[in-house]
Amino acid sequence: MLKQIQQQIDRIKGLGATYVDARWYPFEDANYLMMWNGNLKNTISARESGVGVRVLYKGAWGFSASSDLSDLAALFEKAYDNARVAAERVTFPVRLAEKDAIQATFESPCQVNPFDVPLTEKVAFLKEMDEQLNQAGVLQRFCDLTFVRKQIVFVDSEGSHIEKLITEVFSTMEVSGRDSQGATHERKFRLNRHGASRGWESVDKQLYRENAERIVKEMNQVLVADTCPKEDRSVILLPGIMYLQTHETIGHALELDRILGYELAFAGGSFVTLSDFGKLRYGSEKLTARADATLPNSPGSFGYDDDGIPAQNTVLIDKGILVGAITGRQMVEEANARARREIFSGSGGANRATAFYRVPIERMTNINIDPGQEGSLDDIVKSTEKGIILDGDKSWSIGSNREQFHFATEIGWLVEDGKITDVVKNATYKGPTVKFWNSLSAVGDRSTWEVRYVDNCGKGQPNQIMQLGHGVPVCRFDNVRIGE
Ligand SMILES: [Zn+2]
Repeated sequence: MLKQIQQQIDRIKGLGATYVDARWYPFEDANYLMMWNGNLKNTISARESGVGVRVLYKGAWGFSASSDLSDLAALFEKAYDNARVAAERVTFPVRLAEKDAIQATFESPCQVNPFDVPLTEKVAFLKEMDEQLNQAGVLQRFCDLTFVRKQIVFVDSEGSHIEKLITEVFSTMEVSGRDSQGATHERKFRLNRHGASRGWESVDKQLYRENAERIVKEMNQVLVADTCPKEDRSVILLPGIMYLQTHETIGHALELDRILGYELAFAGGSFVTLSDFGKLRYGSEKLTARADATLPNSPGSFGYDDDGIPAQNTVLIDKGILVGAITGRQMVEEANARARREIFSGSGGANRATAFYRVPIERMTNINIDPGQEGSLDDIVKSTEKGIILDGDKSWSIGSNREQFHFATEIGWLVEDGKITDVVKNATYKGPTVKFWNSLSAVGDRSTWEVRYVDNCGKGQPNQIMQLGHGVPVCRFDNVRIGE
């Protein structure tokens, strides 16, 4: 198959294409199980396989994909024909940043292939966790497991040949109950980076038991708690909400295709302009953010992107100043040309497609915040006069250019004069993005830093759901509006 794909790439190149690549998925397996209130509501098993082909011709892309591999020549010709038609109406001719030809393999760390684990064992695990959650105060309980395993073979007309084997495990436990006014409150646990690998071994019963006990206890505290006050306070974000703050107001705002206006019709744009790079004070001096696809064991670490660029660790915000973006080969060339200066020296290796039948677009890798100097959570609480600790994403509303946000969290703990006092319910906070990041007054050390996984980041038309990670410390922001 590989030989035939290479022959087709050479043939289309010979017809005048400037660039051709193919992503062959010998298999992509997915398995989803969901238990709700003790009942197994869903078990889904799916397998996809096929080839996706990109052809660049006179500055325009053509794409085709099929799971029927019986006529590869026709599949490649379709992509070539699409590119030729598109070339007649191209407005900004596509150029690709330089790259090296690479022969390489990448395997995400996995000890026990979850697809070798019998269904009965997976269902028994869910049943056991459901029983852990079945406690006083809990009205609804939910527990799910998602497994993905895929092989991707990437070949292009510039001499690259990259083979990847990627295994993903995602899981959530959630409980909800009702307060005396009849309002529902929830508390979740998500499986995040745990141990050195991400196979069936990461589904650790002890970890789930501890967290089941914790989320039931915290939800019951919320059910009898007072409502969050409406006022300005310092907010101390734990990783369970800090990851989403980073995702929505740094990650999405710094995707270069959004900055250039390519996602306006669906995902939205960005308040960031090309003239902001190197100048905009995005946050306080305590803020250093990076797109780090080299972080071990995260869904945002995939070895090589779908342009064949090796994983990179790119600084996005350096001590508060905007310096980088989430980029692929195409957008960096267009951004430099439009800005009439070299903002980006090459691809940041962040072009990814969610399946063989989707085109790669710029996606977050691991968008991380560097740990800081302000010690542990206890240390940060001790130095906070009037604050609130927040955790757990409940709902979110974000400006389409990411210029402002409003997040509702699952739980809040008030802080008065350096001490944690009461739990509150309906804890929300909001703000304008740049003002908020500039109010960053404390960043926790490495003991507070955790990697959180995201398995449902949506972008693109047709929509592509992508997986990634966020390594974030506990952070404190001052004078933030809460409770409304
Ligand atoms: Zn997203």
